[in-house]
Amino acid sequence: MEKPMIALTFDDGPNAQFTPKLLEGLKQRNVHATFFLIGENIEQNSNRNLVKQMYEEGHLIGNHTYRHLEITKLSDEEAYEEIKSTNDLIESIIGKAPEYMRPPFGSWQRNLEKKMMIIPVLWTVDPLDWTTENVDEIVNKVVTETKENDIILLHDCYNSSVIAALRIVDLLQAEGYQFVTVDKLLLN
Ligand SMILES: [Zn+2]
Repeated sequence: MEKPMIALTFDDGPNAQFTPKLLEGLKQRNVHATFFLIGENIEQNSNRNLVKQMYEEGHLIGNHTYRHLEITKLSDEEAYEEIKSTNDLIESIIGKAPEYMRPPFGSWQRNLEKKMMIIPVLWTVDPLDWTTENVDEIVNKVVTETKENDIILLHDCYNSSVIAALRIVDLLQAEGYQFVTVDKLLLN
């Protein structure tokens, strides 16, 4: 029987300080995750290399807008530009444009789906990791709440979140779950 699937998703990266540690830990555990990247963060430091590394190591890369803006507060044109410029940037690095995006703050405009050919992906488990540096608290929330087919939301721009993510993987793998990229859950 196939193991029950869950997906780890990371928003707001890439982060030069913490993303490398996360990628290393995921690789050691043979886990593929989904990264929703902010365009302007990709252009910082040598973060393009991190995007390439994510892709080469089997992670799924999605769009999280260029400047992390709330889509519903923008004009249609601005919203399109936020998504399109980020898609183009990612395509210039990995050779293909993302098919999935996570709208910042979960706010989305339906008419963009057709125009962009992009699928919005929200989440089902949110430990609010950005509000605390308490690793145990993040881990406990996620491990208690998560069930089959859940999409877990974390942020790889905090050290505590990265430590928590790897601990979550160890605990939930031990419970018999397998971690997949969100496309596998959505196509399921
Ligand atoms: Zn975000």
